[in-house]
Amino acid sequence: MRVNEIFYSLQGEGRYTGTAAVFIRLAGCNMRCDFCDTRHETYIELSEDEIVRQAASYPARHVVVTGGEPTLQLTPSLVDKLHEAGKFVQIETNGTIALSLDLLPKIEWITCSPKTLPVKIQHIDEVKVVYRGQDITRYEALAEACGAMRSLQPCDEDDPEKNALNLAAAIEYIKAHPAWRLSLQTHKIMNIR
Ligand code: SF4
Repeated sequence: MRVNEIFYSLQGEGRYTGTAAVFIRLAGCNMRCDFCDTRHETYIELSEDEIVRQAASYPARHVVVTGGEPTLQLTPSLVDKLHEAGKFVQIETNGTIALSLDLLPKIEWITCSPKTLPVKIQHIDEVKVVYRGQDITRYEALAEACGAMRSLQPCDEDDPEKNALNLAAAIEYIKAHPAWRLSLQTHKIMNIR
């Protein structure tokens, strides 16, 4: 598998914010978002066994398979091996790829940050919207249809003034639509990975 990096930190965003987690960042994405902070071009080839060996070397049970777009490479056998190592598997996906039915039920938590609609992934536990004040009515409908929790995350535009506007807009949206919860990129606030 093409892997950008494997590292140990705290989950900074969404439902599991603050949870110690091993991050397996798989390389490559089928989207090109202008706010993307992932370096797509660098990776190393690792076997599934080597990925699991590295993940198992950390004490946390929680594993986040992220990207890039992790569903381009994620396999049922990797998830099985992570389970055999005692891990809980969360993925962070853009939702554009349908999962095989031998993979989908194995994943304990699917966080989808939709970048385009309709999404193709068949199940979502958490809809996490990167927010710049845009109309998110269609994401409301997606979360409703999936019965997913709703996380609204101010977009980091690498510009303090824009970021302050995005945060203020997210707070106001949530106050008016309390089914949503604020998701901050707390790893950036804490200055950790
Ligand atoms: S979907 Fe995610 S990883 Fe892919 S380009 Fe967009 S922000 Fe980056």
